[in-house]
Amino acid sequence: MRWIKASVALVAVLAVLAAAGFWVLTHTRNGQDWLLARTIPLLFANQPVLSFDGLRVFVCGSASPLVAPGHAQSCVAVLAGRDLYVVDAGAGASRTFQFAGESLAPLRAILLTHFHSDHVTGIPDMNLASWVGGRAQPLTVMGPTGVEQVVAGFNEALGQDYGYRAAHHGVEFLPPGFASMVAQPVDLGVVIEQAGLVVTAFLADHSPVAPAFGYRFDFRGRSVVVSGDTIVTDVVRRAAQDADLLLHDALSLPIVQALETALTSAGRSRPAKIMADIPSYHAHAAELGALAESAGVRQLALYHLVPVPRNYLMRQVFLRDLPADTVLAADGMVFELPADSTAIVIHEP
Ligand SMILES: [Zn+2]
Ligand SMILES: [Zn+2]
Repeated sequence: MRWIKASVALVAVLAVLAAAGFWVLTHTRNGQDWLLARTIPLLFANQPVLSFDGLRVFVCGSASPLVAPGHAQSCVAVLAGRDLYVVDAGAGASRTFQFAGESLAPLRAILLTHFHSDHVTGIPDMNLASWVGGRAQPLTVMGPTGVEQVVAGFNEALGQDYGYRAAHHGVEFLPPGFASMVAQPVDLGVVIEQAGLVVTAFLADHSPVAPAFGYRFDFRGRSVVVSGDTIVTDVVRRAAQDADLLLHDALSLPIVQALETALTSAGRSRPAKIMADIPSYHAHAAELGALAESAGVRQLALYHLVPVPRNYLMRQVFLRDLPADTVLAADGMVFELPADSTAIVIHEP
């Protein structure tokens, strides 16, 4: 009996001491500063990956225009050797890099699949973040004809910001010549051939948006295909032939139809019409297993999720009818494809 009382008293004393310690650390200036100095360094515990012997894919945005709190819109980054390429830059994409501690310094170009807002509105932030991060040349933005208009518009809108930043931080730290982006329209076929990397543009079917591209990356015996926004087509199938990794645009028809029904019942006719319109120009998730299998794709991952599942049930519905190893891409997810190997290492965010 006595030892029980003593134990209770000891626990009570320890609890009071712990509460007092917590209060001192969070409510006093000295306590806050002590704790801050020991926790802030944890943000920088991992060194950014600046090169990779093979292809390293970082999902910088897995969402579509449908509301998805905490998710950036369409963005896939591919590091090949020392060169980083980003396919599309939707809203929030550069913040995904910053949250994950990824570097944009090796960024060589942004490759646009098409000019829908959920693929381009993150471009100014990515330009700024890579300029501040130490990019050593102007940022090239490649894409179908029309990319000139997108880039000229952003340069025009951000011209004053470029000046403020250089004036504040100094022209040696932020060379003004690297601020304005350069547009480079490209045709179908090989668009980049550099240091062993070959990037090929292929035609996507995102009608009435035309032209719309997807891109295939081949480097040191490994391959990654990013579909862009498209329905399933034989062109995409051929482009993805024997690819190690296919990241494909994906819409869950059962979820979108349930949203349309619910919105109609709630009297919200305008968003209901949007739900009725979008299934015609995105690939339906249920079709993608057969596509990946017939193309001989090693790993299928769904991105540009329409919509991003908000709970366990929606994830289950999104992935039903698909092979068990299909991955739902998430912001911050990494796929590593080491050179001259068949390994695919997936790091969850
Ligand atoms: Zn889109
Ligand atoms: Zn689109």
